[in-house]
Amino acid sequence: MLQSRAVHIIIKGVVQGVGFRPFIFAIAKNNQLTGWVRNTSSGVEIEIQGSQSQVDQFIIQLRSEAPPLSRIDFITIENITLGNFSEFTIQSSLANPNDFQPISPDTSICPDCLQELFSEKDKRYRYPFINCTNCGPRFTIIKDIPYDRPSTTMVEFEMCEFCRREYTDPLNRRFHAQPVACPNCGPQVQYIKNGAVIADKELAIQMARQDLQNGLILAIKGIGGYHLACDATNPLAVGALRARKKRSDKPFALMSFSYETVEKYSSLSLSEKELLTSRERPVILLNRLSETAICDQVAPRQNTLGFMLPYTPLHYLLLEPADHYPEVLVMTSGNISDEPIAYDDAEAFQRLSTIADSFLIHNRAIHMRMDDSVIRSIDERLYMIRRSRGYAPNSLALPFPVPNILATGAELKNTFCLTRDQYAFLSHHIGDLENLETLQSFEEGIQHFEKLFRIKPEMIGCDLHPNYLATRYALERAQTEHIPVLTIQHHHAHLAACMADNQWETDDPVIGLCYDGTGLGTDQAIWGGEVLVGGYQKYQRRFHLKYTPLPGGDLAIKYPSRMALSYLWNDQYDWDLEIPSVSAQCYEDRTALKIQLERKINSPLTSSMGRFFDAAASLMGIRHKVTYEGQAAIEMEVLCDPNEMGEYPISLVEDELDPHELWQNLIQDVLRGTPIPKMASRFHNSVAFMSLSVCEKIRNEQGVSIVALSGGVWQNKVLLSKTIKLLKFSGFQVLVHHNVPTNDGGISFGQACITARVLKNS
Ligand code: ZN
Ligand code: ZN
Ligand code: FE
Repeated sequence: MLQSRAVHIIIKGVVQGVGFRPFIFAIAKNNQLTGWVRNTSSGVEIEIQGSQSQVDQFIIQLRSEAPPLSRIDFITIENITLGNFSEFTIQSSLANPNDFQPISPDTSICPDCLQELFSEKDKRYRYPFINCTNCGPRFTIIKDIPYDRPSTTMVEFEMCEFCRREYTDPLNRRFHAQPVACPNCGPQVQYIKNGAVIADKELAIQMARQDLQNGLILAIKGIGGYHLACDATNPLAVGALRARKKRSDKPFALMSFSYETVEKYSSLSLSEKELLTSRERPVILLNRLSETAICDQVAPRQNTLGFMLPYTPLHYLLLEPADHYPEVLVMTSGNISDEPIAYDDAEAFQRLSTIADSFLIHNRAIHMRMDDSVIRSIDERLYMIRRSRGYAPNSLALPFPVPNILATGAELKNTFCLTRDQYAFLSHHIGDLENLETLQSFEEGIQHFEKLFRIKPEMIGCDLHPNYLATRYALERAQTEHIPVLTIQHHHAHLAACMADNQWETDDPVIGLCYDGTGLGTDQAIWGGEVLVGGYQKYQRRFHLKYTPLPGGDLAIKYPSRMALSYLWNDQYDWDLEIPSVSAQCYEDRTALKIQLERKINSPLTSSMGRFFDAAASLMGIRHKVTYEGQAAIEMEVLCDPNEMGEYPISLVEDELDPHELWQNLIQDVLRGTPIPKMASRFHNSVAFMSLSVCEKIRNEQGVSIVALSGGVWQNKVLLSKTIKLLKFSGFQVLVHHNVPTNDGGISFGQACITARVLKNS
């Protein structure tokens, strides 16, 4: 007999509920090995025995052919003495209460299921809930672990004989696929109009399609919540949706049946195509082609379109091409303006009935609310903007081991983050913590993550701002649970998030260009144009944008013209009526504003980079009032003339970045009637060159030559590309975000890393 070998293998990672055991079973059989495989509460355990070469072959296949949704994080292989196995078996699970199991995110329908969906001979032909171990809902239906059908919202549905046979057959694609279902035993769709059920099953889908074709607005229950859909080429439909949703300008996401359709409306690079067709199915911001049938109202004054491909079987049935049927649908989250996305049926009917003409719903409950993820591709690499469905709750590897930490994040675009071992569980997008509903999903989300990943926080990190709801939650919990809490300056958290996103391990200082809208500073001013030098443990605020008043607080955010006038007042420039920001306000408003500035009424000081961009956009006459955050800056970015090389000077005075001369030059340009695209480009060039000069100054002073770019302003692609180019040309190493958002969605991740480093060493 050939020489025999037996090994014991432990695998950790995403290996449950993703078809891993059947895969092991199959490759063990193929290699004529004996032994067993079983799930443990932290992964999968295997013992195999056979000839040396067959065992080797098994190990190679284990690594190279693992099922698509699985992810192997750790693998240990140990030789053991030969056992007494006659065959290969799948053993029952072994649970250890302290272990945890990464849970797979919800995943787009796989090619096998898609083929069955449209194959007339298949039992699940046109069944909107077809799924298998390689695809379908996961995180949004899981109520508890171990991940088994009774702990999911599929518990309501008793499997039929046919489904059970597949579910129990180790060689079947649906072996232990918890959401497995068929038309006989699984969830069904219903079409509802005016509160009454009009149709179900295939007829429901056909009626929904009819509505979309007729220019009506349809509410659709998806995987993580409701969408509102309409024909993206019908201006009346899109206009009605905007009016009813009370969302006047913020762009809508779009969905098309295939990549080929998307290509008719936007240009795609190779990496964008890959992201678009990836199983995570995020919304990708793509460069829009001009003169297409998509109405301007979908994304007013923008040069990008947010496209995604269908990710559920129901989406495929809704978007299936047909004559005179819309090939691009608006697919925006089901909510009114800034409320969280609706996911509960009763709640959806109540909240969406004033928006939607009809509903396409189903009876599979959603346990966790989950928005679509949004991504941009920058230099052919992923640049996360909103990390949610398809990505959360996948763990992110940290550059160093950490204790169990809870970090509660920022106020806007909130996410929270839990850590254990060397993992960070960055939550899905929670939203703006400004209303009770969002606060509730924040608190429930934290509880759910702690339960699923068996994390009991030993320490908490939160923002410095005492009035953020996330901060209050953190402080209260720390007090009741008697655990240490660390308050962290917002821009320091941005810096740390970018460092850790790039696996930066040490505390060697890095230059942080932390540019965003708002974050409370240690001097109680509102920071946002910050040049920090530091690491996880400490930082120095080396430069910041010169302070100017923020007259009226939130009012100054809503009205860029107020910011422009604040800057002019602060720098003693006249409010000349020929300047668009001045004439944009009536005499009474200007007088009131002047009094407010002079008497310092509700006018905190700010170094915000976001407001700096707003002021410039208003001075150029681009926009004086915004309806969503960043709108003025985004519209200015779009207008940039790519061939314009000029700039306006910004001087470095001690620790201040003083734009006095920039305003002087810009005002001259405005009064001279310089075309807006030239001014917009000059302004962007100025910020990029200023960024380069501060970095060069710091390199001369302290020898630091690594720069991290973090904060919401870096969603500006023009500024980002110009700055990266300049820094690299000058010999800097540049760290930019990839898997963690550069905006406040990344704050909790940074807070967790800082908490780990600071409190661990205290
Ligand atoms: Zn599948
Ligand atoms: Zn069935
Ligand atoms: Fe921020």
